[in-house]
Amino acid sequence: MGTHRENADAQAAGAAAGAVREPDWERVRGDFPVLHRLVRGRPLVYFDNAATTQKPAIVIRTECEYYGTCTANVHRAIHFMAEEATRRYEAVRAAAARFVDAPGAASTVVTRGTTEAINLVARGWAIPRLKPGDRILVTGMEHHSNLVPWQMAARATGAELRSIPVDDAGELDLRRLPELLGNRTRLLALTHVSNVLGTVNPVRQLADAAHAAGAAVLVDAAQSVAHMPVSMAALGADFLAFSGHKMCGPTGVGFLCARPERLEEMEPVFGGGEMIARVEETESTWAEIPHRFEAGTPNIAGVIGMGAAFEVFSELGMDAVQRRDAMLTRVALEQLAAVPGLRIVGAAPDRIGVVAFALEDAHPHDVAQLLDRDGIAIRAGHMCAQPLLRRFGHAALNRASLAFYNRPEEFDVLAESLVRARRALAGGRE
Ligand code: PMP
Repeated sequence: MGTHRENADAQAAGAAAGAVREPDWERVRGDFPVLHRLVRGRPLVYFDNAATTQKPAIVIRTECEYYGTCTANVHRAIHFMAEEATRRYEAVRAAAARFVDAPGAASTVVTRGTTEAINLVARGWAIPRLKPGDRILVTGMEHHSNLVPWQMAARATGAELRSIPVDDAGELDLRRLPELLGNRTRLLALTHVSNVLGTVNPVRQLADAAHAAGAAVLVDAAQSVAHMPVSMAALGADFLAFSGHKMCGPTGVGFLCARPERLEEMEPVFGGGEMIARVEETESTWAEIPHRFEAGTPNIAGVIGMGAAFEVFSELGMDAVQRRDAMLTRVALEQLAAVPGLRIVGAAPDRIGVVAFALEDAHPHDVAQLLDRDGIAIRAGHMCAQPLLRRFGHAALNRASLAFYNRPEEFDVLAESLVRARRALAGGRE
C-alpha cells in the first residue's frame, strides 16, 4: 500500500478526531461538471491545472445568470439593471482585494488576466519613469508574461534587465542578491510560485531587500492563489497580479492589486470610455483610480462569475486547500518518482503541486499524446518559461499540475499510464 493512502487516511482520521475539519472533497469534486465526463472512453484525469482549472457549476451558472437576468453595461446608465450589474461587478472587485489581502477595492484594477495586469505596470508605471542605467530585476524562473513585458520596458527606456539565477534544486540562488539589486534597481518583478517547478519563492525576504534598495516589488501570483493563502500585505508587494481562470473562475478575468500610491503614479495605458473625467477636443483628464485603467466595456459576465469562484475558495478555506494540496503533492511526487526512467525537475522543499518531469528517451509531446489516449491531460512543451527550461538543459518537458479536486488515486492512473508510455516509446510492447 502506498504511503499516500496512509497520508490520506491520517488526514481523514485527524478530521474525524476533530483536529481539523476538512471539506468533503468528493462532494466538492462532484460540483465540477467536466470532471464527470469520459475522454476517449475513460474517466477524465485532469492534471493541467496550472494552465487553467475546471469550473464548478456555481461559477458557470452565475456567469450565465448575468446574461439571463441583468445584462446591462456597468457604470454607465441610471436604470435598474445597470445598477444591479454595476453593484455585482464592484462587489467582485472588493472580493478580489479581500481574497489576497490587498489594500482595497479602490486600488484593485480589473484586467483580462495576469498578463494584462503585468503589461499595465510595464507600460503605465515602468516605461514613463525608468531612465537609462536603471535596473529591472526578475528571476530565472519567470513565466514569459513576467519577462517579456520587462524586456520591452528595458528596450523602451534604456534600463537594464537582470535576473536572479536558479540553482539545481529549482530554488532562487540569493547569494548575489545585494549585487544584483545594486542601487539602481527600480523594480523587482518575481513570481510567487514557479509554473514549472512548483517552487514557492521567499517573496517577503526578497521584497524587504528590494524595498531597502529603493525598488518597488511586483508579485506574479498566478500560480499561488489557488493553492495557498496569499496576502499581499504579508508578501510586501507593491503590485500583485493574478488570473481568475487559474482559480476556478472564467477566462478573461484577472486583477492587478496595488498600493494606492503606486497606482496614482501610473499612467493610463488604454484610452477610451470609462477611464476619463472630462474630454476636450484635444485633451482629456482621467477618472479616479482604479477606473482610469479600465477603458471600455469589461468582461462583465466573467467578472460576476468570478465572484462565485471567490466564494467557493472562501467556503473551502485556503488553509484546507493548502493541506489538500500538500497531501496531493506528496502523492504526486511519490508516484512519479517510482516510474522507471522518469526524472522530476526541481526539488525545492517548499513547493506546490506543479511537477515537471522528463521521461528517458521519450519526447514530451509523444508522452502527452500517449497519456491522452488514457484520458489523462498533462502538459508538454516549454510551458512559457523557455529560459528556465534551458537552465535545466531542456527544450521541452512534461508537467502534471493538480488542483484540490484531484483524487490521490488519479496519480496511480497517471503512473501506470507513464510506465506503459515509456515501454511503448522505447519500442517495447504494451
Ligand atoms: N504567470 C504565471 C506564473 C503563469 O503560470 C501564467 C499562466 N500560465 C501567467 C503568468 C499568465 O497568466 P494569463 O495567461 O492568465 O494571463
